[in-house]
Amino acid sequence: MKKRVLITGAAGFLGSHLCDRFIAEGYHVIGMDNLITGDKQNIEHLFALPDFEFYHHDVSKFVHVPGKLDYILHFASPASPIDYLKIPIQTLKVGAMGTHNLLGLAKEKKARILVASTSEVYGDPAVHPQTESYWGNVNPVGPRGVYDEAKRYQEAITMAYHTYHGLETRIIRIFNTYGPRMRLNDGRVLPAFIGQALRGEDLTVFGDGSQTRSFCYVDDLVEGIYRLLMSDYASPVNIGNPSEITIRQFAEEILALTGAKQKVIYNPLPTDDPKQRQPDITLAKQLLGWEPKVSRQEGLAKTYAYFQTLTQEQLYKKDH
Ligand code: NAD
Ligand code: UDP
Repeated sequence: MKKRVLITGAAGFLGSHLCDRFIAEGYHVIGMDNLITGDKQNIEHLFALPDFEFYHHDVSKFVHVPGKLDYILHFASPASPIDYLKIPIQTLKVGAMGTHNLLGLAKEKKARILVASTSEVYGDPAVHPQTESYWGNVNPVGPRGVYDEAKRYQEAITMAYHTYHGLETRIIRIFNTYGPRMRLNDGRVLPAFIGQALRGEDLTVFGDGSQTRSFCYVDDLVEGIYRLLMSDYASPVNIGNPSEITIRQFAEEILALTGAKQKVIYNPLPTDDPKQRQPDITLAKQLLGWEPKVSRQEGLAKTYAYFQTLTQEQLYKKDH
């Protein structure tokens, strides 16, 4: 009998790539999503497969799945700053109650569960690059607090289920990841810049653009998730690409990639926007033998090719 995996957030950017990976590995995949920031189109190609099922469900409410489950991957959560600013309460609920429900389901089914945490647990980090042993610098009552604290609670309750109930748990701290199927208007910097380039608009850098991020291509991330799930390590593990770049340089790279002739304009920096971010991936290398393989040049070319397939209507649509 095939192994069965539940993937929450299945219709989102990362969830949909995870569904593809587990189908390719020969699993029976149950995707769950309430479509609050996701899009069914991301998984439409799987609907005809006998080994794929889709449940339209809000995981902050009691979660029921018939039959056995071997693994649960909890990826449901708004993930981009404009999304979690728009729906702050749902963001807190899915990180807290959603995670609690899925841990309960994992306990009931004796399944191993991996939860998607984030580099945002480090807040605006005072330690650089960020190691897993750094506890972070988060403003709980700032606008990003709803996401950061939901994810910190998620880690805490996941650890408690591991130590108190002996549940098999995995925690991944994901750093900025990009690739095909990101929502054009999700506000994250890569779709924002590529969308602006394609529409002939100026590229909006927030602040002076000296803040840094380190971008990981989605295929590398999915490989890291797969390896961590199969490992026996319950403490948090950073997965990301350590290649760090300023946002100003990143805008220049997008202009060069797209051949766009527009200029870069500067808008105010959002409150609590982290000034620097770079993963220390020593642990992932030692534990999982994992490191990213896709350069930014290659990953951006693949991602741009995806965005070029969008119709004019999609390109100019205000929301997803
Ligand atoms: P996304 O918005 O594309 O996908 C999230 C999915 O979760 C969406 O399909 C959404 O509809 C679904 N969802 C949200 N709340 C739900 C609920 N209550 N019940 C059921 N479904 C719900 O975002 P993404 O980039 O794919 O992020 C996926 C996960 O990875 C999130 O948990 C996010 O915090 C984490 N993460 C992502 C990144 C990144 O760079 N993409 C970085 C760090 C962490
Ligand atoms: N950013 C920007 N212009 C945009 C969107 C984002 O300069 O149109 C900046 C943002 O202020 C942040 C960085 O790009 O410093 C990454 O933003 P994103 O929302 O992609 O991710 P996060 O801040 O969560 O890492």
